[in-house]
Amino acid sequence: MDTVRAAAPQLAGLVPYDPKYLPAEALLSANESPTDIPPAVREQVRAALARLELNRYPDPLANGLRDAIAAANGLRREQVLVGNGGDELLFDLALAWGGPGRAFLNLPPTFSVYAANARLTGTRVVDVARTDGYAIDEDAVLARVARGDIDFVVVTSPNNPTGACAPLGLIERLLQATDALVLVDEAYCEFAGTTALPLLEAHENLALLRTFSKAYALAGVRLGYVLAHEGVISELAKVRQPYSVDAVSQVIGRVVLENRAAFQPAIDAIVAERGRVTAALAAMDGVEPYPSDANWVLFRLEGTGGPTAATAAAAWEYLYDQGVLVRDFSSAFMLEGCLRATIGTAEQNDALLAALGRFLESA
Ligand SMILES: *Cc1c(COP(=O)(O)O)cnc(C)c1O
Repeated sequence: MDTVRAAAPQLAGLVPYDPKYLPAEALLSANESPTDIPPAVREQVRAALARLELNRYPDPLANGLRDAIAAANGLRREQVLVGNGGDELLFDLALAWGGPGRAFLNLPPTFSVYAANARLTGTRVVDVARTDGYAIDEDAVLARVARGDIDFVVVTSPNNPTGACAPLGLIERLLQATDALVLVDEAYCEFAGTTALPLLEAHENLALLRTFSKAYALAGVRLGYVLAHEGVISELAKVRQPYSVDAVSQVIGRVVLENRAAFQPAIDAIVAERGRVTAALAAMDGVEPYPSDANWVLFRLEGTGGPTAATAAAAWEYLYDQGVLVRDFSSAFMLEGCLRATIGTAEQNDALLAALGRFLESA
């Protein structure tokens, strides 16, 4: 054959995920931790890895790590599932609760991976857009789930890329209004200091997603987990890739979790810098930052005739030329003119603010 038949029809129009990562002095585009794990923790990782038998398959469900995560959250092993990053678990959710004839309720603008997973699995995507300030439109969401055809919902809290948490009261009212599975994506909850975990006991349709990639500085390792009722976890376990969490990652996750108190100073520093960067952006003419509970700030650039994608794209380019890589959302739905800057070290944040100031002066 000199041709190949077409791939599955649901792939038409999809593009591979592209974080638009480029080398730069200040990497403020991917919401990573600006600092690596503390040296004393790294030393423990090294010692633990030295004892690992690499010729053996890992524990398929990572039960040692599951137990440690369960204990840290006051739960049992059966209420925890570990995945190859939160992203794998988001795909598992679409496989297990989506599919042809089923529907996913999306709350854009939000993390683009949810809708992409739905399309891949042949799941219908129902959008309920956020309001002007990016709050969830609670009345519209409750009215939409009342129709009874929604199979799962993702509530991102804090919401990426807009920044704010969903109010716990809203999550609770949603859980009461529907039997759809409600996944609260808490990838950044450590920077917000809040979690929907207290709602888990009373609501069988709640699941929480967490990751080691952000506050625990392990984006390179690929570890995430879901907390949910046993019945939800056992459905997700059916679609999961058997050995997706390798032995090296399991060991690193356990050491980092045991030492989680050592990460708190870095988390506190990010929260303090977030306040400083937000205030500095708000003081700039033509820049409107959105309040953030996470480790980044989304801000809108006003062009001469209102916010324009062109102004933001020019600002992105200028910042990149100055060694500062941020994420350009300026052509995305409801995010016209917006850039997202991850909170870095104080020096990196100063570099961002200084470069943006120079751009605004020259514009
Ligand atoms: C980063 C992120 C995740 C998970 O990332 P992993 O690195 O795959 O664990 C999940 N949800 C949101 C909203 C994120 O930003």
